[in-house]
Amino acid sequence: LLAKYSTAAVVDEQPIKPLVQVEHTGLLIDGKFVDAASGKTFPTLDPRTGEVIAHVAEGHSEDIDRAVAAARKAFDIGPWPKMTAYERQKIMLRAADLIEKHNDEIATLETWDNGKPYEQSRQVEIPMLVRLIRYYAGWADKIHGLTVPADGAYHVQTLHEPIGVAGQIIPWNFPLLMFAWKVGPALACGNTVVMKTAEQTPLSALYTARLFLEAGLPPGVLNIVSGFGPTAGAALASHMDVDKVAFTGSTATGKVILQLAAQSNLKQVTLELGGKSPFIVCEDADVDQAVELAHFALFFNQGQCCCAGSRTFVHERVYDEFVEKAKIRALNRSVGDPFKSGIEQGPQIDSKQFEKILRYIRSGVDTGATLETGGERHGSKGYYIQPTVFSNVQDDMLIAKEEIFGPVQTILKFKNNEEVIQRANNSKYGLAAGIFTQNIDTANTLTRALKVGTVWVNCYDVFDATIPFGGYKMSGQGREKGEYSIKNYLNVKAVVTPLKNPAWL
Ligand code: NAD
Repeated sequence: LLAKYSTAAVVDEQPIKPLVQVEHTGLLIDGKFVDAASGKTFPTLDPRTGEVIAHVAEGHSEDIDRAVAAARKAFDIGPWPKMTAYERQKIMLRAADLIEKHNDEIATLETWDNGKPYEQSRQVEIPMLVRLIRYYAGWADKIHGLTVPADGAYHVQTLHEPIGVAGQIIPWNFPLLMFAWKVGPALACGNTVVMKTAEQTPLSALYTARLFLEAGLPPGVLNIVSGFGPTAGAALASHMDVDKVAFTGSTATGKVILQLAAQSNLKQVTLELGGKSPFIVCEDADVDQAVELAHFALFFNQGQCCCAGSRTFVHERVYDEFVEKAKIRALNRSVGDPFKSGIEQGPQIDSKQFEKILRYIRSGVDTGATLETGGERHGSKGYYIQPTVFSNVQDDMLIAKEEIFGPVQTILKFKNNEEVIQRANNSKYGLAAGIFTQNIDTANTLTRALKVGTVWVNCYDVFDATIPFGGYKMSGQGREKGEYSIKNYLNVKAVVTPLKNPAWL
């Protein structure tokens, strides 16, 4: 097993050179790629090496002003919300076709900028991006209000109207899936968009947005401003001409977004924030299957998932066997250049996250958890971390309470369902949970008792476009994906008309 692990250690070899050119580094404003008003740029780095991939225009508040003005014009004067829903739908479907055609180039950019395995980008994430855009295109001509019965002789109807200019701020862990979760419903409902991408991963959204233009999206409908949070992001969240802001990222930044929205124009806010999701392995579990699923729930995407199953609760009856097998599975995980076939784990996104994860690992050791495997950097360059497993983790340890956002599994022992429900819910977060059991009654009891936005029973990270996603407690406000996400981008107008001569009188 150790031999297999070290043969996968390819980080000291020359990194594979991606076969793609970086075509777009400007800000996308009013249908054109332009320089930042200040002329400033910032480097975006290859997490495999820390080397510069490209210098990208760095948006500041003047650029946000320009982008919002373009989006405002495309909304208030048109054409976007004034086009027929069928026309909007056709443009979105054409964009999805173009994304599908350029799957390999987009997947390459995504992996290069983010470090996630190329096979994951190419076979899972870009196809999911296409699916999401088609799903939302399907909604465009199915949005309608209601006829409402009222007391008295009135005809009452509701109109479901787009809100206006949507500001969208996204993170770096799934740059294009977060793009689709936000742009899809906004455009389908007839809103225009200013998006601030994450400073670590600006490239794939610029490329994809250009394909929307090629598909016929009018100028100003989708604007992309690359840049940093406290400058470009804050300017967007506090802009007086932005009608709605949608954010995905840390709970700390989510609080700032809510304050900025409140202090400016009380724009509507949806937030998708952090988590410390329990994955509960019950006493009747098939241990081999449970180990595999718990491993996937935590280590997928280098552990950089808001819904990572980051507290693995295991029943005492199967605990020892589980820990031993979880350790072997982690030792077996293939780590290395994400462009190499068969690689399961690439580098973390950047040096800040890399250092933070190593600090959490040290804290786990210092507070008395048992380090079963891993715990160090992997290789000698880039931001790779060994798959790490801790056992004997206690609820009050930092590694059991805070979001590590890295490849660090923490295993906790429990005795019975009542206890695990109480401990699983004892968190400021409430994003997701996994339950692994063969007993339908146990599954039903835990499902209802857990205070979380998603429960995966005998599965994990199932993310179809139709399934709503979002958090209880400090994991967020509102739901994305599915029909629920459509409501985030609509205002409801009640229209009341007196009935002078009702037909039946
Ligand atoms: P972050 O929340 O600070 O960044 C997310 C986005 O918000 C980025 O686009 C960033 O530029 C922007 N932003 C930052 N400060 C802002 C501000 N003051 N105003 C407006 N926008 C702002 O997250 P991070 O610093 O990249 O990562 C820190 C931690 O956040 C991670 O370790 C992880 O725990 C968590 N995180 C969660 C998610 C998620 O999917 N929920 C994604 C990324 C990071």
